[in-house]
Amino acid sequence: MSLIPFSPPRIDDEIIREVTAALKSGWITTGPRTKQFEKNLSAYNGNAFTLCLNSATAGLEVMLKWFGVKEGDEVILPAYTYSATANVVIHCGARPVLVDINASDFNISVAKVAGAITSRTKVIMPVDFGGLPCDYIALMDLVQEERVKALFRAESPNQELLGRIMILSDAAHSLGASYRGRHTGVWADASVFSFHAVKNLTTAEGGAIALHLPPPFNNEEVYKYLCIFTLHGQNKDALAKMQKGNWKYDIIEAGYKCNMTDIMAAIGLVELARYDQETLVRRKEICEYYYRELSRYAWAELPVLRDDERESSYHLFALRIKGITEEQRDAIIQSVFDEDVSVNVHFIPLPRLSFYSKMGYVMEDYPVAYDSFSREISLPVFYHLEAADRKRVLEAMVKAVEKHLP
Ligand SMILES: *Cc1c(COP(=O)(O)O)cnc(C)c1O
Repeated sequence: MSLIPFSPPRIDDEIIREVTAALKSGWITTGPRTKQFEKNLSAYNGNAFTLCLNSATAGLEVMLKWFGVKEGDEVILPAYTYSATANVVIHCGARPVLVDINASDFNISVAKVAGAITSRTKVIMPVDFGGLPCDYIALMDLVQEERVKALFRAESPNQELLGRIMILSDAAHSLGASYRGRHTGVWADASVFSFHAVKNLTTAEGGAIALHLPPPFNNEEVYKYLCIFTLHGQNKDALAKMQKGNWKYDIIEAGYKCNMTDIMAAIGLVELARYDQETLVRRKEICEYYYRELSRYAWAELPVLRDDERESSYHLFALRIKGITEEQRDAIIQSVFDEDVSVNVHFIPLPRLSFYSKMGYVMEDYPVAYDSFSREISLPVFYHLEAADRKRVLEAMVKAVEKHLP
């Protein structure tokens, strides 16, 4: 039997046709396809303007820079996330303030966030773990509390305008998820999606910033500024410079270089057009199959896929096994791989990684994150995971757990 992979992309003839068309069009970097993909994403999410970039990491960092995050500042984020969320804060010279998660859904604990706010806090970066949205209403209420607003020290023009802590959503997992009936992308000041190869919707590498800033911000102006800021601070993009006689340009600041190419956007256009009708339907079907079948086992702690307010984008099926140690979890994973089934762990909490540990973060300060990590196994979820293979995944899991559980 062949190895069932964890999360291969869906690359078919339609994708190949559209990428080929982009390659043959004479325009391969940022151009009409990227602009169209941005418009389609905005229409999908319901926000006014979206900027596509070459990764979610770039999108998060660009928004922190745009807000003026710098040395001496603090940014609150969950200890249970991928390193990108913390690294962008460090790139700005600021300090990531890690907080613990909810035991129920792996998302950042709003109570812990409230306890971590100081006069140095500039941004909160919630992560929609596995595709399930965080409690954005509670987070927005928190940063608008008089006590919290009074603590906020505005030190840049955009901080003056917002007048409070910014909520920058790491929505890398949650394109297509909903909260109170609306898609992610309209609940934070800005939400950043990832189109990395393993994500729900891929462009090989890629990401997007969905802007949803409140008045007095003009999201179109912010979008236009960010287009320049993510292209070296150059006031004309390559396409504009191509127009007859339009060769002169200026550099208005030392910007970044992280634009999306039209080759990537060609993949994204196909992926988005079939996202609701095909991708999400299939992912939901797979997650519900695991949920239904595993609910028969007392050892299975099932992930929240939806509740009264939220529905996941079904990015991960994050199973936890009750009452096991980290060593038993590792042994179970080995046994599952021995059955030719790939699984994964989301995530190794940041304090467990050498870089952050050397910075002084200690795992014991985040007991819920550690407990979740030590018992977590993510099952494969991808478009071409057929019924027979879903059954193989399930059987391998059950066999492995029963072998290692006392
Ligand atoms: C994948 C991921 C990112 C980074 O996305 P890139 O597009 O690879 O930069 C950020 N945060 C989380 C939670 C992720 O899973």
